[in-house]
Amino acid sequence: MKYFQHHNAGSVAEAVALLRKFEGRAKLIAGGTDLIGTLKGDILPEYPAAVINIKTIPGLDFIRTEGEDIVIGALTKLAELVQSPMVKENFPLLADAAESVAGPEIRNMGTIAGNLCQDTRCWYYRYPNSMGGRIQCFRKGKGPCPAIKGDNRYHAIFDGKKCFAVCPSDIAVALAALDASLTIAGSDGERNVPLKDFYKPLGYVLKPDELLTSIRIPSAFRQTPQRFVKFRVRESVDFAIASVAMAVILADGIGRDARIVLGAVAPTPYRAIEAEKAVIGQGLTASTAEAAAQSAVIHARPLRRNAYKVEIVKALIRRAMKEIGDRR
Ligand SMILES: Cc1cc2nc3c(=O)[nH]c(=O)nc-3n(C[C@H](O)[C@H](O)[C@H](O)COP(=O)(O)OP(=O)(O)OC[C@H]3O[C@@H](n4cnc5c(N)ncnc54)[C@H](O)[C@@H]3O)c2cc1C
Repeated sequence: MKYFQHHNAGSVAEAVALLRKFEGRAKLIAGGTDLIGTLKGDILPEYPAAVINIKTIPGLDFIRTEGEDIVIGALTKLAELVQSPMVKENFPLLADAAESVAGPEIRNMGTIAGNLCQDTRCWYYRYPNSMGGRIQCFRKGKGPCPAIKGDNRYHAIFDGKKCFAVCPSDIAVALAALDASLTIAGSDGERNVPLKDFYKPLGYVLKPDELLTSIRIPSAFRQTPQRFVKFRVRESVDFAIASVAMAVILADGIGRDARIVLGAVAPTPYRAIEAEKAVIGQGLTASTAEAAAQSAVIHARPLRRNAYKVEIVKALIRRAMKEIGDRR
């Protein structure tokens, strides 16, 4: 690794002041499970001058109710999401998504905010600088996306434009399906951003002097039928090839509202609105599942080597709906 300063922040205000001082040349570190890899591989467009440790900030590790909502602190570990009776009971798809992340070691270190802000896993972007030189790409600010003409089997089938890397976060997919919002602290105070607006094709909306402090899940999908399903190459530890988070509100067995969000198929979590429409007003039958599966992919534009993801998305939607039906 190269030289960088290391600062322990004692409060959110101190973290913000440090971020402001370094004017975009500092990186936050929480569990470090993602950041350290990017520093070792020297893959970031600009090596940080400073790393600001936020684990030293007290009071950001909690899961609690606030009125009808559940609020989760930014430093809450993924393992704590898996184990929390409050999360399991009220939003089981979030507990399932957290359990599907990596293995126990990473879940014991990795935090919810770190998971949401982790860098992309695109193999061109992540190619270590030390192994024959840096692969440049659109995301790094130089040249076109090598995946467009290259080996794009793990890349986006929706919404790819100049960069086809997919959002790797399983937690983002789950939280998007639960209409969660994020609390962000910065020099101008606090602001709330719905998760659906947090991601941009090349990252997220955080300004250089901002950090996530908590995540709020409203009650709309509390204890409603819901499921997170994920397909990965290695069942033990692996990022998703594709995933689906599905939550429905039923009245007399008929869909009144639905969220169907797809993961690892677009630069941001992808809300399959056409699939949701196929569920509303219908029972959770095999034919509804089929209609939702087909509708989910109507805007898919696969690249040369990733059309197989379209079939996986459809299979995951059928499976999610069947499992929701079986559990009721
Ligand atoms: C082997 C392996 C397998 C994995 N498998 C999966 C998987 O299947 N699914 C999945 O979703 N993820 C997976 N991950 C990613 C893993 O979940 C993340 O590395 C972890 O959650 C990051 O959390 P952290 O606290 O360690 O973040 P860090 O590494 O400390 O930080 C990651 C990024 O987030 C930023 N950051 C951290 N906290 C904040 C904050 N509060 N506000 C703003 N920015 C912040 C940091 O600056 C950094 O850019 C895997 C990782 C590994 C190494």
